[in-house]
Parts: sequence; structure tokens; C-alpha cells
Amino acid sequence: MADIIQLLPDHVANQIAAGEVVQRPASVVKELLENAIDAEATTIKLIIKDAGKTLIQVIDNGKGMSTTDARLSFERHATSKIRTADDLFQLHTKGFRGEALASIAAIAHVELKTKQDQQDLGTELVIEGSEVKSQEVVVTPKGTSISVKHLFFNIPARRNFLKSNSVELRHIIDEFHRVALAHPNIGFSMFSNGSETFNLPVSNYRQRIVNIFGTKTNEKLVPVEEETEVLTISGFVGKPEFAKKSRNEQFFFVNNRFIKSAYLNHAINSAFEGLLKDGAQPSYYLNLTVNPQSIDINIHPTKTEIKFDDEHTLYAILRSSVKHSLGQFNIAPVLDFERDANLDTPYSYQQKGTPTIEVDQSFNPFKEDQQKTKVSNYKKEVGANWESLYVGLESKGTKTHTDFSEVHFESEPENESIFKNEKDVEQKQTTYQLNNKFIISTIKSGMLVIDQHRAHQRVLYEEFLQHITIKEGVSQQLLFPLELHFSKQEIALINQLKEDLESTGFIFQSVKNETVQITGVPVNVPESEVSIILEQLISDVENEVPDSNFSATDLLAKSMAKSLAIKTGQTLTNPEQEHLVNRLFACKEPNVSPTNKTTFITMTVDELDKKFM
Ligand code: ADP
Ligand code: MG
Repeated sequence: MADIIQLLPDHVANQIAAGEVVQRPASVVKELLENAIDAEATTIKLIIKDAGKTLIQVIDNGKGMSTTDARLSFERHATSKIRTADDLFQLHTKGFRGEALASIAAIAHVELKTKQDQQDLGTELVIEGSEVKSQEVVVTPKGTSISVKHLFFNIPARRNFLKSNSVELRHIIDEFHRVALAHPNIGFSMFSNGSETFNLPVSNYRQRIVNIFGTKTNEKLVPVEEETEVLTISGFVGKPEFAKKSRNEQFFFVNNRFIKSAYLNHAINSAFEGLLKDGAQPSYYLNLTVNPQSIDINIHPTKTEIKFDDEHTLYAILRSSVKHSLGQFNIAPVLDFERDANLDTPYSYQQKGTPTIEVDQSFNPFKEDQQKTKVSNYKKEVGANWESLYVGLESKGTKTHTDFSEVHFESEPENESIFKNEKDVEQKQTTYQLNNKFIISTIKSGMLVIDQHRAHQRVLYEEFLQHITIKEGVSQQLLFPLELHFSKQEIALINQLKEDLESTGFIFQSVKNETVQITGVPVNVPESEVSIILEQLISDVENEVPDSNFSATDLLAKSMAKSLAIKTGQTLTNPEQEHLVNRLFACKEPNVSPTNKTTFITMTVDELDKKFM
């Protein structure tokens, strides 16, 4: 029989890959603006015609490209931003995949003009559907201008899928806002159909927000500042009385990159608890800075989602510092300002350091007026033994803090033994949790390392899928109906997914106007998580590349699994660890998460032996 497998020609492969990166004109806008920022531009101009359907042009005054680089920039996986896979963990640029320009050029007519500072003349390139039509030497200012015309000209299905101009323009403006908010130190302007829609001069963050959202915004901004070892927060939240029903003014930037996170959004909502009118949404514009090594941004081609190593701690810090700010500005009742000690300890402790003992160098026990001395002045009296009394406490000026985890750890085994009953103690421990992230267990041939978050996602995903398909989800009735508020578009999405949601165990009393009333939730879903789940679901559906493979059921199961799965950073008891391991291996596809990430690895005794050679 003849062979039937063929390699796809490059231009077809490029078109297919383009679908990942370019969903609509706004995606092109995002990629081009980000490239301009990566090129260290200080002024960036965006020009749009017919909501990007006719023209998207970005002009920057950045470092430009040499002629060779201009040609290379349209090749797939051509990037100047990373050289090795390791660089991925130290990213300071927006792009890194090297596929934006190649993708855009595969599905549009592209015109590039670019010149580096030291060159006299620049390069002009015209590319249509991945084919270079012309390359010329041109007079052009320093920097780069890229025009993208006739988007999706060769994929009519995609072009027909585009929404009305007003919807597409809204998406473009959203992207423009996100990029402009993340970079107040860059001047931006935007023109749509010939008229200037935004002119944003270089400014500070507050001014940038006001320039975008209007002068009235100024009085509603409450600053939020927090610096801890794991996270720095700076930015603003809106005063509660100004809160509107829409979520248009909710922005998280992580290391200057806009992200969506239903989980962190929930942290803010909970900081505003009791301060908002029904259905009102807090506005926030928050910049979070974390160690690039503690995040994974490579999980979604359009990169609006990030995976954090320790979401739990971020949640706690964020919630507490927003609460703090609202309290400081007399917005929250004083009682609300009280920090939740449980959530605070891990970082505030580190920040403040251990108590210090002050030593009064001039202390003289024989001097009358120093009779009422403090405990801390005992040094001279107890002499050499003093140090042994205070082991662990450092004197001022040397080390400012001890390792909190150490201090904490010492007392733990004791507590445990008090509560453990004897039977448990006798039972052999078969699993062990590492870094609150991995579960280590043994198998006949060696050892097993399981990623707790991914494993639990797999377990929940299969459960939800089953519930949805055979409609067997079990509900728990809520004592009081839960009322949640959404925008009109969000309500439309929930309506689409309603039936599937019901099969998982949700009971909706009504879904209308801008309100959803829920009277029952799936067993195992805590009431407090319901809003997170729905928000996550909505953002997942919005992020989904709309193609024929789109399955609402699958997406719902994935999304709920993601929201509800045990997070990295969560401590699990031994029985919990074992339960999870058992459930994972009862799954149909235990080795990958619902998003195809490895859930566990094994290491055989042989492999271990080799390491000891
Ligand atoms: P990535 O941004 O992931 O590297 P792109 O396809 O977006 O991939 O861009 C490819 C390369 O083209 C970039 O790495 C950069 O070197 C160059 N480039 C793209 N846009 C610009 C620009 N506006 N100014 C200078 N160089 C650019
Ligand atoms: Mg790029």
C-alpha cells in the first residue's frame, strides 16, 4: 500500500500555528506593541482602521533592526530574546517565542520599515501570506513601523468569525490600555479611523490611569504599597463608593505583564468584603513584582495567564495589603483593618525580623539612677551565661532575622504527637510531602514524585467530565441562595454553559439581567469558591481559541478542576496525600494533567544506583 503521510508545506503550517497567536485584530495589536516595548521605544503610536480589519499599524522609535534581522524576524522561532531554554526562567522581555511576526505574516499583508540608530538608510520589506514580495532600501526614521493589512485574507472562515467593528475595537482598546498601564514611562498614542482616541504622555502611574480613565478617576484612587520578600505590590485600588458593576477597571500586572487571575481577583474581592454595594465590582490597578523564577508564563500562547509557585501566600499578602490600604485611608471600618494573623505571619514575621535585645553599653549597676533597668540589661550581671539564655535571638546590627521556617518547624512534631492517636503512629508512612508541592512515594521499582496541583486537577477533571456526561453530579442545597453579579456578556456565557454546569451539581434559580441566583452547588464545592469558579470559567471561555474543537463540556471540566485543585503551597496531611495518590492512579489518564502537563515522574532504583556510582 502506498504511504499516506505528508509533511505540511511551511505556509500551511504557519497558517495553522497563526491561529494560536492571532485570534482577532486585538491580538496583533498586543504583539506589535509588546515588540515595540521590547525594542526599548520611548514613543509608540498605534493606528487602526475599521477596528483593525483594514489596517493595524504600530510605529516606534526603538532600536530598529538590521537588514538581516528584519528578514529573520519573520521566520518561525526567530527571536533575539532568548538563547537557551534556561533563559525562560529569567525573562525580562514580553516576547520570547519568536512566532508573532511569522504568524502575522502568514495570514496578512505586512509592510515593515525599520532602521537602527547608526544606519543611514533603513530596510523596507513587504510580505504577503509568508511570501516576501519585495525588499528595498528606504529613508525612514530610527525605529520600526509595521503595518498589517487585510488580516485573515487567506482564511475566510476566520475573517467571517470576527465580530462587529465596535466589539473588535473594544478588544483593541482593552489591549492598548493594558500595555499603556504597564508602561507609564513610555508615551503612547492611538488613532482610529483618522482621529486621535488616546494621547498618553510619559507620566507617573497615577497620571497614566487618570489620562486613560478620565480626570474623575483621580479622587477615587487609594494607593497600595507593600514590600515583602516574595512579592512587591504597588498601585491603586478604587474607593468602594465609586465601584461600578462592570469589571473594566480591574488590572493585575505581574512583572509589567497584564495577567488574568480569578484567584487573585478573589483576594481583592475579599479585602473589600462588606464595603461594596450589591453587585459592585472593585476597581484595581496593581503591579505585582515577583522573582521571575517563581512564575511560569509559558502556559498559554497569548500569555494572559501565569502560574505562580505559591499562590496561597500571594493571595494572603494581596488581601491583607489591600485591606490595610482601605483601612489607612479610613475607608474600611477600623475593625476591618485588623489583619488576619494567620495569613500575615509568614511574611510580616520575616520582614520585621526577630525581637532584638538592646544592650546598654554604658550600664553601671552601681549607679543609683539605673536601678530600674530593663531585662535586656542583664548582660553584664549574668556574664558569660547570658548568651546561652538567649540563643536564637540576635543582637541588633547583626543578622536581622532568623529563618522563620526553622523556628516554626521545631514545635510542630510535638503538637502532632499530641493529636495523633496511637493507631496512626503505628501505621507506616508511605508518602511524604516535599516543599508543599510534591508528594513523594515509593513503588516496587523505585520512587515516585507527584505534582500535587496537577495530579489533583487530573482527578477532578475526570470526575467532572463523568458527572457532566452521565448527569450524575450531586448537589448540596444552600441555606440561603447565593447571588452573584456579572456583566451582560458574562451572563450570556453562563447561559450557554448552564446545562453543563447543572450536570455537575449547580442549581440555578435564575440567570438574568446581571444577576445569577444559585441555590445548590456540587458537593465538595465550598460556597466561598463558587464565585472564583464562575469567574475562572468565564475568563477561560473568553481566552479559548474559538475553533471547531471547542468543547464547552471539556472546558468546563478543565476550568473547574483548575479552580478547585489543591494548590502548590498547600500542606497536606498524610492521609490526604495517600488519598490523592490513590485517586490519581484510579484515573484513566493519570500521567498528564488536563492541560497535558506531566503529573508524576518515577525514578527507578537502577537510576538511583547510577547516581551513586
Ligand atoms: P519575539 O517577540 O517572541 O522574539 P516576534 O516574532 O514578536 O518574536 O519578533 C521576532 C524578533 O523580531 C524579535 O525577537 C526582535 O528581535 C525583532 N523585532 C520585532 N519587532 C521589533 C521592533 N518593533 N523593533 C525591533 N525589533 C523587533
Ligand atoms: Mg514579540
